[in-house]
Amino acid sequence: MRTVLGIESSCDETAAALVTSDRKILAQRIASQDEAHRPYGGVVPEIAARAHAERIAPLIEATLADAGMTLDEVDAIAATAGPGLIGGVMVGLVTAKALAMATGKPLIAVNHLEGHALSPRLADADLQYPYLLLLVSGGHCQILLVEGVGSFRRLATTIDDALGEAFDKSAKLLGLGYPGGPAMERLALEGDPRAVPLPRPLKGSDEPHFSFAGLKSAVMRAKQSGQYADADIAASFQQAAIDCLIDRARRALASVGKVNALVVAGGVAANKAIRGALEALAAEHGLDFVAPPLALCTDNAAMIAWAGVERFAMGQSDPLDVAARPRWPLDPEAETVRGAGVKA
Ligand code: AMP
Ligand code: MG
Repeated sequence: MRTVLGIESSCDETAAALVTSDRKILAQRIASQDEAHRPYGGVVPEIAARAHAERIAPLIEATLADAGMTLDEVDAIAATAGPGLIGGVMVGLVTAKALAMATGKPLIAVNHLEGHALSPRLADADLQYPYLLLLVSGGHCQILLVEGVGSFRRLATTIDDALGEAFDKSAKLLGLGYPGGPAMERLALEGDPRAVPLPRPLKGSDEPHFSFAGLKSAVMRAKQSGQYADADIAASFQQAAIDCLIDRARRALASVGKVNALVVAGGVAANKAIRGALEALAAEHGLDFVAPPLALCTDNAAMIAWAGVERFAMGQSDPLDVAARPRWPLDPEAETVRGAGVKA
């Protein structure tokens, strides 16, 4: 049994966790910066980096204390090394390097997206490779074939906005504040998903990708028209997003060989309507549907520690001069898609 300390700081969450190779989360802490960024309606990189730097050391100490452990009892130290806001990534990675150097423990530089991609295996011991993963978050919207640790084939990505970004921007248009996803989901419960005619960008398209920018613009026009209740716009937006997601996932399933499960991860996976639709799609294909518990969907350090556990089990670790990477695609072979440059 091995224990890995995980550190996450790639966006607006400072997090630390201790996870064992037999899937126990011994302790985990997350310091959210939502309050600091709320006045700006989005994450401000400079504010984020400063907040990570202020919080990370006490957060790690508190996490160790929660588990009643000392650093000496940890087997390896894993930290997000990218992709993400580079100032924040550097804070977490440098901290991990310092701890690794001081203790002589191995350092594992984790791809944040791999953390999301493998997190369902932390929650579900029965989930075997290969599986089809929908990675839907504030910065990413991809369909990946997960073949193993470090082995991914990207089947689709967004050509403009990520799905969480579309939720956040649409929420902002409706005056719902930041982060917008959960607020949109709540408001959608009170609305009629058929009330507002909204587009389903790329639905039925031969190309495999996603597009959400046009949907967001349509939300803006619907709001400006003054014809619709906000709840109806929210419900219709969510339905359009689900229709696109399901259409693209169905296409991806048809394009790959046998997989063991349909898996969803990333912050948007917290959305119950989206989970329900994906579960139905999986059932239609005779596949298991796996969604990590909500706490593992949004950014957290347990998933980073777990990716560290999986890498460590394969004998992998990284040199202390490993670089932080603002961009770090899971599938280096995947072609760049127009408009999607900033989304790794
Ligand atoms: P992440 O980028 O993985 O930290 O996830 C954050 C993103 O997930 C943000 O864009 C949120 O708006 C989005 N999100 C969180 N909860 C929900 C929800 N219930 N429905 C839709 N989007 C959500
Ligand atoms: Mg994330």
